[in-house]
Parts: sequence; C-alpha cells; structure tokens
Amino acid sequence: NTEISYSLPNGSIKKTNYSQTLTRIKKLANALLGLDIKVGDKIGTMAWSNLRHFELYYAVSGIGSVCHTINPRLFQEQIIFIINDAQDKLLFIDLDFIEIINQISIKLKSVEKVIFLCSKNEIPKNLNIKQEVLCYEEMLESVNKLEIWPDFPENTASSLCYTSGTTGNPKGVLYAHRSTIIHTLAAANPDALNLSSKDVVMPIAPMFHANAWGIPYVATMVGAKLVFPGRHLDGKSIYNLLETEKVTFTAAVPTIWLMLFEYLEKNKKKISYLKSCAIGGSACPRFMIENFSEKYGVEVIHAWGMTETSPLGTVNKPLLKHLKLSKKEKFDLATKQGRPIFGVDIKITDDEGKKLPHDGKSFGNLWVKGPWICSGYLNISDSKTHQADGWFLTGDVATIDADGYMQITDRAKDVIKSGGEWISTIEIENIAVSHSKVLEAAVVGVLHKKWDERPLLLIVATEKVSKEEIFAYLKDKIAKWWMPDDILFIKGLPHTATGKIKKVNLKEQYRDYLLNKS
Ligand code: ADP
Repeated sequence: NTEISYSLPNGSIKKTNYSQTLTRIKKLANALLGLDIKVGDKIGTMAWSNLRHFELYYAVSGIGSVCHTINPRLFQEQIIFIINDAQDKLLFIDLDFIEIINQISIKLKSVEKVIFLCSKNEIPKNLNIKQEVLCYEEMLESVNKLEIWPDFPENTASSLCYTSGTTGNPKGVLYAHRSTIIHTLAAANPDALNLSSKDVVMPIAPMFHANAWGIPYVATMVGAKLVFPGRHLDGKSIYNLLETEKVTFTAAVPTIWLMLFEYLEKNKKKISYLKSCAIGGSACPRFMIENFSEKYGVEVIHAWGMTETSPLGTVNKPLLKHLKLSKKEKFDLATKQGRPIFGVDIKITDDEGKKLPHDGKSFGNLWVKGPWICSGYLNISDSKTHQADGWFLTGDVATIDADGYMQITDRAKDVIKSGGEWISTIEIENIAVSHSKVLEAAVVGVLHKKWDERPLLLIVATEKVSKEEIFAYLKDKIAKWWMPDDILFIKGLPHTATGKIKKVNLKEQYRDYLLNKS
C-alpha cells in the first residue's frame, strides 16, 4: 500500500500506490502481448518521469521485451537514428512530444504503432503520423491483467539507453535483467544511496537518462514511497514537491540545484524533510555541497557514472576515520567522485596503458570493470573502448587516492594540454563557481602560439563583477601556470541534452581567441 505520487502536466499532484500500479502494469503487459510483442523486441518511450513511464519500465521488461528510453532533448536527427538503430517496434509518447513525432514519423523504419500516454479524450487531432496511433488508457481498459509473468533467462535484455553522442552517433547500451538486479542491490546499500522502505524517493534525473540512475528500481526493491516530478523541473515546482510529499532522498545533475538554490534564496525558504541528495552527471561544485549541508541540513552524495555503467560507478561516502575531520576537510573530500561501490573495479593509466599510482595526484585515463558495466555497444562489433577482459575505457581523466577515492579532472577530450602538461578544467570551474557572483563557469582549451593550448575562462555572472576580482579570487587556489589567460563574461552557456555544459561548441567558438588577440 505504499504511496506513489506523481505530478501532472498542470502541476497538480495525484496519488496511487504500488499495489494499484502493479495491477495496471499487469494489464499493460497483457496489452503488449496482445500486440504480438516478443522477448527481445524493443519498445521505445519518449516521456518525462511520470507514473505511466514507470508502468512501462516494469511491463515492458517483465514480458522480456526491452524498454528503450529515448531522450527527447536530443537533436531530431539523433532521435531518428536511435529509433532506427534500436529497431523499436512500438513508441510510447507523452503528449508534450507530439511535435517531435509529427516531424520524424515518416523517417522511422521499424515503428509499427505510436501509443500516446493519455486518455482517449486527450488524443490530439491533426496528427501527421504514418504509423497506427493508439491511446494508452484505452489500451489498459480493454484488457485483463496478466496472471503469470513469463520465464526467460536472466541475461535477457531488459532496457536500452543511448549515450548522448557528443562525438559521432549515439551508442546503444543494453542492460540485462541480471545486471540491473545486481546494480539495484548494490545501489541501495548504506555506502551507496542508502535507501530503505522508510524513504520518500524522488528521481529528478530523468527516466530517459540512464534509467533515472536506477532509482525507480532501487525504490521499488526497498519499497520506498516514490514521487514522480513529471515535466516541471524548475526551482518552485521541485521545492513544492520536496515539501508536500516529504521527500527524503532525491537525485539530479548540478544545474537543477542551481535553480532550486535561487528559488530558496529569493523566497527565504527552508527545506524540511530532505535528508540526502545524490548529485552526478557532471562534477558537483564544492559550494553546492557546502550550501546543502550548512544552510539546509542536506547531505550531498556525490556520485559518478555513465550510461555505460548502469550508471552507478563510484559514490562518495566518508569512512570511519573521516568522521573526525574538520568541516573544511570533509567538504574537500566530498568534492571527489568517491570510491567504487562493491562490484566495481577502477584503475587509471597513461596513454601507453601503463597503470598509474593511487596517490591522489597522478591523473590518467579512467577504466572501469564490473557486473553492470557494459561489455560492448548495440550493433557495433569493434568498440575500441571495450577490452576482452572486461575493462572499459571511460573517456574520463581522473586521480585515485590511497583510500580509493576517485576524482574526475576532465573528460579526455576537454583536458587542456599546455606545453605538454595537463590542466584540469573541472578544478578551475569548481573554484570559479564558488565565487558568490558567479552562476556558471566553463574553462576551455584554446590555441596558443607557444604553449599549444591555454585555458580560457567563460563566466555567467549573477551580478556585475570584474575580471580582476575573479583573477584575485583564483590566485592562491590554483597553480600559477593553470591561471586562465583571459576571462570572458557571457550571457549563458550551452547545455547538452543531459544538462552538461556543451564544451565542443565553446571550444569551436573560442578556438582562435588568443591567436586573434595577440
Ligand atoms: P551523456 O554524455 O550522454 O550525458 P552520461 O550520462 O553517460 O552520458 O555521461 C557520463 C559522463 O558524465 C562521465 O563519463 C563523466 O564525464 C560525466 N560525469 C558523470 N558524473 C560525474 C561527476 N560526478 N563528476 C564529473 N563528471 C561526471
């Protein structure tokens, strides 16, 4: 009878529970079987984090078909590529994405039916869709619930996500029932997300981004109350849900928290129930960890992962010996991405593949291995980043300290190589955003006559601030030769479909900035 709350597009909150939801899931499963869906068939979804999406997660995988969550924020060409590459048979779509499906329908090769996640009277008119159109609620009304779930091997695929493909086409990552269950068991543990039946869990990380970091599975396994935020992810809507639903745990990328902080500060609000909040997807700046802890009494769980790692790889939790650290030392530690959770192995190597020491200083290419780390990409037979012995080259650059805490210093393609030495863009960005007048910051490597590349700091400010002020602020916090060659103030930074700063665009835009300047 544990409650599930979900926010509707008009902002109102509705309630159901696991038992009623299971009944609907069993009906959906039967409806899918009625549409001749077989083990291994791919079923696409384009939906926010809402109840119907949750029902799809379980019904689709429960009958052995594969729940393929599609990120609607990707470019249309990428969405078309993804759906055709996966060979999705059905597409379940939230009404918000009518425009997208109207425009891409004609280019979809495998999709037989498009099912709108709505009731009959909400089905839009003037559709421009070549596939048969069905209505989700009507589908559920017309079937009985499935009595017995089918049996299939545990290595059967259960879901599918694509990486967002900042370079080249997106790549498909298949998750199996087995890998998902093991990941779920590991993620619930105290040294990972620490979730139990006493929690109220709200996944803000979207259900189309690495399965909302696995949280819909973990919450269900432990029987926690679930809260689905739907489409509204602004500061006010998130705050209202946190308070009215008494949320104790949530998870999102850093940009979401910037919006929440702005709302809390403007409206002088306090957070009453939230105990912990997992932050990942990009580096969590130190001020965010401090703010959450000092102003709002919320523990930040800094975590690292990728679509390829299901996605949890490392989680930052203090060890027994850290309990006696000073506040400053605790926050310093918390900015690292953490230790691998049980089951995951990590290592760093130089470009020749030689293992680097775990001294917290040497940084190199990060590799990862474990039962929920993908062993290859869908439809790609010659992945250069997967090794036969299970190690996967992440494309991240990191340090690992003697206690096993890993810290991401960059994505390999963003790291700045200045006169042969590496400069971490993330570290400079983290310091810059801790300045009270800086909202967002990005450091990009731009061409330099003598040093090949030098850092340029781009800042979105909250109020008027001078270059000199920022330079002075950075001065004793970074090595001299890491100091950006210049600082530019800009109106806004471009973001990727998963909320990260889009550095490729910035790098292109500013590549010749220093050359032109001199
Ligand atoms: P996409 O690029 O599609 O958003 P992922 O969500 O799989 O794909 O992104 C994974 C990447 O996100 C990692 O390789 C890493 O570069 C970055 N990342 C994830 N968590 C963190 C973190 N806590 N700190 C820094 N970078 C992170």
